[in-house]
Amino acid sequence: MKVLLAQFIFESNTFNPVPVERELFAARGTWLTGEPAVREWCRAADSQLAGSLAELEGVGVATHPVFVAGCGTPAGRLSADCFRAIGDTLIRELRAAGPADAILLHLHGAACAAGEDDVEGALLERVRRELGFTGRLVVSLDLHANVTRRMLHLSDAITAYRTMPHIDFHETGVRAARLVLRPAGPTVRVMAKVAALIPPTDTHHASGRFAAILAEARRLEGRPGIFDVSVFPVQPWLDVAEMGTSVVITAARDAGAAALAEGLARRWYDQRTEWQTGLRSWEDILAKLERRADGGPWLLVDSADATTAGAAGTSAEAIQRLWSRRETLPGEVLLWVVDPAALPALRSGAGARVGVQQVPIAGELVFSGEGRYRARGQAYTGQEFSMGEAVVVAAGRLRIVVSAAGALCADPAFYEGVGLAPDRAWAVQVKSLMGWRAGYAAPAERGLVFDGPGCASLEFARLPFTGERRELFPVNPSPAQPLSLWQST
Ligand SMILES: [Zn+2]
Repeated sequence: MKVLLAQFIFESNTFNPVPVERELFAARGTWLTGEPAVREWCRAADSQLAGSLAELEGVGVATHPVFVAGCGTPAGRLSADCFRAIGDTLIRELRAAGPADAILLHLHGAACAAGEDDVEGALLERVRRELGFTGRLVVSLDLHANVTRRMLHLSDAITAYRTMPHIDFHETGVRAARLVLRPAGPTVRVMAKVAALIPPTDTHHASGRFAAILAEARRLEGRPGIFDVSVFPVQPWLDVAEMGTSVVITAARDAGAAALAEGLARRWYDQRTEWQTGLRSWEDILAKLERRADGGPWLLVDSADATTAGAAGTSAEAIQRLWSRRETLPGEVLLWVVDPAALPALRSGAGARVGVQQVPIAGELVFSGEGRYRARGQAYTGQEFSMGEAVVVAAGRLRIVVSAAGALCADPAFYEGVGLAPDRAWAVQVKSLMGWRAGYAAPAERGLVFDGPGCASLEFARLPFTGERRELFPVNPSPAQPLSLWQST
């Protein structure tokens, strides 16, 4: 048996208007073609691709990993050029390594491009049409995928992460590989779509309501003929067609998957009035900051400006709130804002106004250079990222990072890359919803969640959703059609 593999991971936030160019992957993330380069990357970094290769090669399957692209940082829609380049590269590399018995693609499922709401569905269509591929096509997705009927129609089996924050890249790769190897016969794919948006801050895999949904999915997988049950609390900041949370089952034709998907989706929807954003007032946050957190820093969680949710990172909300307290805070507080225009002045030692709020800051320049780092926490371990050119300004107890670009900031290596020591800090700002819990191995209580300016607000009803997206809970507190069911033929 011969299997071709590729990985393209990117998540869009369609409320971020800035188009994404190939440079985001090539210069600040990963863009590799050719088997030797892709294999070397797999050895250095935790990934789905590495998990699949280990599983398939363990049973003697010939594998050919041909392309990997990713950046760890969601953003707006891919530009038309960038979208075309990704598709062209994928098809070219698969064609060069083919033909094969199966293709295994590790994708995100919430990527959008200029003029295309369903990037992954469009890529699968090109694989089927341009390569004329009729063999088994297995796909793994992020659990924030907005799963579409086209994705399910074109693939034979789909699986997804089972952790939030995501720390099961390898295991997901192993699971996807097993779907390549079995079942032997044809499958059906069933999707129950739920007309609801769930605050990502209330979807931890190990505790609470979401853990119960995941446990039920595992129980259903114990039934005969049910090969995979994946649940998708969708990336909420997508104003796109077919938008919604979903339950997806890959099964044998006669396994009764539709009723199982509908039952789990209904149970999930019935939780909706209990979902919590976890947002706190600044009064509450400032009071908490006076007290020592046990075993590590407080995490100042800037949810609306979360770069891990596709926001720009340009809000200086925390800097504004804490600037007047910079001499009296109990310990060092690490803060971050994206503002390329402020860099020249800050680099010369002068003060500058930073962020969309244009907050004036001044202090001692303690770092100037590229902010490049390799994640060392429980997620993206070993993968390398860059925030572009950056400075660090020290003012009282504040250490303010100003960078040229957004980046994955949920890992302590982000601040270490600019010479700071987050593990010893009193508080650390993260523009991340949940990833910080994996990056910093921190419990929920350590996070102080606030909602400033930014396009990833947890107050979904305030976002400019259009068309049928206005029918999603809680944008509409009582959607007319809470559940809809679809099954492949
Ligand atoms: Zn995700």
